[in-house]
Amino acid sequence: MEKKSMKTSEAGEKTRNFIEEIIERDIESGKHGGRVLTRFPPEPNGYLHIGHAKSICLNFGLAQKYGGKTNLRFDDTNPTKEDVEYVDSIKEDIKWLGFSWANEFYASDYFEQLYQWALDLINKELAFVDDQTQEEIRLNRGTVTQPGKNSPFRDRSVEENLDLFSRMRAGEFPDGSRVLRAKIDMAHPNMLMRDPILYRIIHAHHHRTGDEWCIYPMYDFAHGQSDSIERITHSICTLEFDVHRMLYDWFIEKLEIFPSHQYEFARLNLTYTVMSKRKLLQLVQENFVDGWDDPRMPTICGLRRRGYTPESIRTFAERVGVAKRDNIIDLSLLEFYLREDLNKRAERRMAVLEPIKVIITNYPEDKTEDIHAVNNPEDEAAGKRTIPFGREVYIERNDFMEEPPKKFFRLAPGREVRLRYAYLIRCNEVIKDENGEVVELHCTYDPESAGGKSSDGRRVKGVIHWVPVKHAIKAEVRLFDRLFQNEDPNDVPEGTDWKTGINPDSLKVIEGFVEPSLANAEPLQSFQFERLGYFNVDYDSKPNKLVFNRTVTLRDSWAKISTKK
Ligand code: ATP
Ligand code: MG
Repeated sequence: MEKKSMKTSEAGEKTRNFIEEIIERDIESGKHGGRVLTRFPPEPNGYLHIGHAKSICLNFGLAQKYGGKTNLRFDDTNPTKEDVEYVDSIKEDIKWLGFSWANEFYASDYFEQLYQWALDLINKELAFVDDQTQEEIRLNRGTVTQPGKNSPFRDRSVEENLDLFSRMRAGEFPDGSRVLRAKIDMAHPNMLMRDPILYRIIHAHHHRTGDEWCIYPMYDFAHGQSDSIERITHSICTLEFDVHRMLYDWFIEKLEIFPSHQYEFARLNLTYTVMSKRKLLQLVQENFVDGWDDPRMPTICGLRRRGYTPESIRTFAERVGVAKRDNIIDLSLLEFYLREDLNKRAERRMAVLEPIKVIITNYPEDKTEDIHAVNNPEDEAAGKRTIPFGREVYIERNDFMEEPPKKFFRLAPGREVRLRYAYLIRCNEVIKDENGEVVELHCTYDPESAGGKSSDGRRVKGVIHWVPVKHAIKAEVRLFDRLFQNEDPNDVPEGTDWKTGINPDSLKVIEGFVEPSLANAEPLQSFQFERLGYFNVDYDSKPNKLVFNRTVTLRDSWAKISTKK
């Protein structure tokens, strides 16, 4: 698979994609009266993922761009796998991404119309009831190089077919005993044209139609016709459906219904993750993650919980463009647009994740002063906040080194650094416990050094973040990493479980300290913890027990690792 880097996708940014070209041509030629109506057709059998987000952005985006509309249509033709829970989550996710649909439709609303069209095909001698077993049907289909065999039931009379099909509907036959098939060509080079199955018997409760039906249409007999019923002008789907297009067009021609047209684009694949609903379900069921909305999941609800913004996902979807060939996009590209967006909107805060205590020995013991800090240098309207400063502060353990190498500009014995927004401090004494572990640093501060100056103009390079000990709030911090260690988790040698690539260290939970202004932070609020990354408040967070998720680090740490190799 071709791997797309940031550069190639950025380069294609200004040109129109091939679907836009088609739509513009159609509008110009007056096809469909210049009307543009797209649809997003999820099957409610799982939660939406970033691949679906790509499809949503494309379908809704095209309609917006060309003054058209988009329908949301649930492709609910398989009663055994579908559920209202999924319907609700899908609607929530689309709204969260920032789109609104013109109509909410269900393929199941069309069951009666589809049934009538099946009768129409029977009457035209283009469909028949087949009594072969599933196994026989499979064996008689032939192979890519060999033609299939006609079913012995293929030449049933129209009357017999009408009778059997109505009795299938009436529930007279058990599951799997009969199917309705189109009568096309068992020697057709496209296997899907070899008398495809239109209906199968499933005695199962449907989440909308209840027990009204016990025969259900196959994808191919439902999808295109639903497009026609809604008078969809541009039916956009992923590449694997290109072989279905011939059948899609065949039904339109034989049934003489509205000529929707199907266009295919390459599905979105991302490195270090899987996207098939079946695999995601397995991750949930086998407890590799903590549910569909685990922040490590590529689901939209997972990304939301992780701290992704809808804007960053939309920008990503737009910039990766629309390809005609399968490719795999670097996860770091998604993270790039996330950082870009959060940089603009996330307020800055200070947090110390691995603390070491600093005592400022020349600072009065009972004194506290207010330090003013800018909330967001990218957004003046975000204002300022105050942080109490006192004699004791926490700093990050790795901002101190007892024997610093040459380019280390942070704190070390005898060295001076600036505490962000506050004073210069100098380290005079290192206190260790009996194991030799540094437990405390004794420093002195320069009272004249507030607000970025030093008293005598001396230059200090290092600036480090801090949290006041007395006012620090303890917080749980969940550090996420990639869910898989291998770039393409789907690409494993035969016989190997695709889950072997799961990163065992994709979640690390630690306890840190955050500044007091975060006391009332609400779930889903995003912040930049200075010098550490972007973090948001998890749903599990409570006023007395804050929980933060690390959304993304400030820089791409994996990029560095991979260039080192
Ligand atoms: P999956 O294979 O992940 O289970 P699906 O294709 O079965 O997904 P549907 O609910 O049928 O899921 O998909 C709804 C729409 O989203 C379809 O038009 C489908 O083509 C599109 N879609 C699904 N996955 C992707 C993807 N990775 N990239 C782009 N579009 C996608
Ligand atoms: Mg599907």
